[in-house]
Amino acid sequence: DTTPRSNGNEDRISVSVRVRPLSDKERARRDVSEWECISPNTIKYKTTLPESSISLDTYTFHKVFGDGCSTQQVYEAAIKQAIVSVVSGINSSVLAYGQTSSGKTYTMTGITEYAIRDIYDYIDKHRDREFVLKFSAMEIYNEIVRDLLSTDNTPLRLLDDREKGIVIEKLTEEILTERSRLQELLSICAAERTTKETSMNETSSRSHQIIRLTVESSPTDYVGTNRSGTLVASVNFVDLAGSERASHALTAGTRLREGGHINRSLLTLGTVIRKLSKGINGYIPYRDSKLTRILQKSLGGNARTYIICTISPTRNHVEQSKNTLFFASCAK
Ligand code: ADP
Ligand code: MG
Repeated sequence: DTTPRSNGNEDRISVSVRVRPLSDKERARRDVSEWECISPNTIKYKTTLPESSISLDTYTFHKVFGDGCSTQQVYEAAIKQAIVSVVSGINSSVLAYGQTSSGKTYTMTGITEYAIRDIYDYIDKHRDREFVLKFSAMEIYNEIVRDLLSTDNTPLRLLDDREKGIVIEKLTEEILTERSRLQELLSICAAERTTKETSMNETSSRSHQIIRLTVESSPTDYVGTNRSGTLVASVNFVDLAGSERASHALTAGTRLREGGHINRSLLTLGTVIRKLSKGINGYIPYRDSKLTRILQKSLGGNARTYIICTISPTRNHVEQSKNTLFFASCAK
């Protein structure tokens, strides 16, 4: 592919930012929010700075959401397009990136529910096609992939399939027959994630969760073996590990340390997204981590990527928030 990506990019990678509201605890401490959304796509660090450096603290993205915005508003303005893609046969991924307790899980949980509602609405409105929905869920912890729909804790292997690309061996894939089952599956995943974390004495700050919905459709009236009208695509909802797991390396340029302090999947994701967003042709290091291998088909090429970066509002988190905005700026 020799066409420059520079002008097609904006459609393929979209980066938005959400600031969570102050928590009761923060309010009680009389903390204030340090961030202000000064337009639908510009966010500013409030603290007064010398005139000359102001531009350094103003950041522009696809969309920015202040603490008065609901998850539904975030979904409608920044994410909904991912669902339009997937029902049209285009792979997509929706990623929540940010430090621990900045609102990734909160945002992702809500977004997933609105997305599911829209997929079913779409199916209801398109009686000329027959749809099959498949659900799977996994977690990556320390470069080990586990099935969130199975009580078996055995690591899953990733296999390279000549036709299908990366296949996650033995991953449960449930075909959905009833809409109510989806809600059940989401609860199972949330509970399973908590159980697995407890048994490993870990927190979600170190693990990535991927919920994958695959939408297959074909014309209702099709006969015979010609399946040319069939569309298949997946959307991945990814609740990433806390970005503090990557920030040391990102900011200080320190070498990748052993022992899980730095999260390989998170770092590799950063590299992959930076390269994709710059439209760099050639080598993209998908193979360097489990997360990027699993998401490969929903990141590059024709796929659409929607990143929602979450930040905590208070001063004690400003350093991490700026790291997140730095990541977001490199990704857009
Ligand atoms: P993370 O997954 O990034 O560690 P969480 O999603 O768990 O963070 O959010 C931390 C806390 O803040 C949770 O108690 C969550 O309910 C609350 N929270 C996060 N974002 C919002 C929001 N936009 N509105 C209200 N509460 C929020
Ligand atoms: Mg979380």
